[in-house]
Amino acid sequence: MQCDSCGKESVLIRALIEGVELRVCQACASYGEKLDPLIEKKQEVIPRKEEVIAESIVLKPEVIEMIVNDFASRIKSQRQKKGLTQEALSKSINEKESILRKVEAGKKPSISYARKLENFLDLVLVKEYVDTPKKWGEEKKEVEEATIGNMIKMRVRKKK
Ligand SMILES: [Zn+2]
Repeated sequence: MQCDSCGKESVLIRALIEGVELRVCQACASYGEKLDPLIEKKQEVIPRKEEVIAESIVLKPEVIEMIVNDFASRIKSQRQKKGLTQEALSKSINEKESILRKVEAGKKPSISYARKLENFLDLVLVKEYVDTPKKWGEEKKEVEEATIGNMIKMRVRKKK
């Protein structure tokens, strides 16, 4: 994996640097606040709704940036549409061809690399999720109300 901050190939850890959550190498992480690696594990598993509500109470609201799952095919098809070789595209965004080769083969790029491709190829690779406890709370309330509504309807039906 490549460090989001310095681009070095290294074992990465999550750290908060200038208020932004990044995947960085040990050296860069020392400039920011290291985040609990356990939190990362929890977020990678798609949690059930109840678990998300419980977690959102603990976690601060944040914007989560995620690379889309089909990034490799999106990049490749858009590159070919524009008639660019891997080499030409890499030169255009000032990156090594070897990185693009790996990315098109399925290696997830860093957010900053994906942003460069987004701008140059005019496509979407990064999705942002705003995770705020308030939103989840509201959603939970709606679900509960709907359930109570269903129960009342069922009782009315029984009476008839
Ligand atoms: Zn680094």
